[in-house]
Amino acid sequence: MSQFEGVFATGSKILVTGAGGFIGGHLVGHLLGRGFTNLRAVDIKPVSAWYQRFEGVNNRSMDLQEIEHCRAATEGVAAVFNLAADMGGMGFIEANKAACMLSSLINTHMLLASREAGVQRYFFASSACVYNLEMQKTAALTPLKEADAYPAMPEDGYGWEKLFAERMCRHFTEDFGLETRIARFHNIYGPLGTWDGGREKAPAAICRKVATAAIQGKPDLEIWGDGEQSRSFTYIDDCLRGVMELMAADYREPLNIGSAELVTINEMVSIVEQIAGVKLERRYALDAPKGVRGRNSDNTMIRKVLGWEPHTPLREGLGTTYRWIHQQIRDGKNDLIYNA
Ligand code: NAD
Repeated sequence: MSQFEGVFATGSKILVTGAGGFIGGHLVGHLLGRGFTNLRAVDIKPVSAWYQRFEGVNNRSMDLQEIEHCRAATEGVAAVFNLAADMGGMGFIEANKAACMLSSLINTHMLLASREAGVQRYFFASSACVYNLEMQKTAALTPLKEADAYPAMPEDGYGWEKLFAERMCRHFTEDFGLETRIARFHNIYGPLGTWDGGREKAPAAICRKVATAAIQGKPDLEIWGDGEQSRSFTYIDDCLRGVMELMAADYREPLNIGSAELVTINEMVSIVEQIAGVKLERRYALDAPKGVRGRNSDNTMIRKVLGWEPHTPLREGLGTTYRWIHQQIRDGKNDLIYNA
């Protein structure tokens, strides 16, 4: 299997969009760690509000919904990792469907600009939210394989936008020869990402609630739904490995990048409680946004294409995530700069 370094020399100009966010920030650090020296990092947030900033990287604050900004961002670029999106956890995407769909401006303009700039390879961060909702109605579900996105009935708003952008990637490849790679991420989590303010996802939210209770001596925590919804959660290191290997692979179809370790939200809360050394009373907010009943990643295809699948045990990844969020709270930090 070819390595990313076999496709792109370490001096190649590489663009990461959404670099001020969770996955984008880690990806820039990862590329630097592999010796890539000519990096451009773009996000709509002011650079001071990025989770991670690295010296020697061309960090720029730009709105990639604007085509002129996409043109400036892709100028002279060999490889694009497009991670920019207006997104968040279930609480955010259920309440902000139009905003989520406006990411189609980012994805349309990034494809157009990448084509004009002669970009050699273009990565798009899609989501497990593209999968047909009808297949996710029970907690004990059959894991979702790539073909299960059709017939299309994805998550309203966010999922439709992702599926549409996937199709655009496909047709830019077929009609214009732009090499695209598409990953369907399944609940990526880890440190240095959103943990408060309304855009956070379940693992970070649960770590924050448990850490807050542990620090302040609170007796209870709130869980959205009845806690029996099931999911798999993918640690950031596995995500990065999958992205880099997919970018190097000769494979143009959407590919799941997701852990197959299925847990209920209640089970995840128990794991975080064990990490924190606390036991809390659970209050169930049955009217809160909870997403689909069950979702897991079928990894047959990633094993075939990459010879590998995400494998970081949830307990291990949550330990690192919990400790980072606990420290943020202890240090009196907040995560509201962008979300305010
Ligand atoms: P994130 O919100 O931390 O990062 C996305 C970044 O995009 C943010 O920093 C945001 O400021 C930036 N952005 C938004 N609008 C922009 C614009 N107009 N111009 C430039 N930048 C803009 O999210 P993340 O978790 O790092 O996700 C990265 C990508 O992966 C997104 O496309 C997301 O939809 C996708 N994804 C993530 C997950 C997950 O579990 N984290 C799951 C499925 C898909």
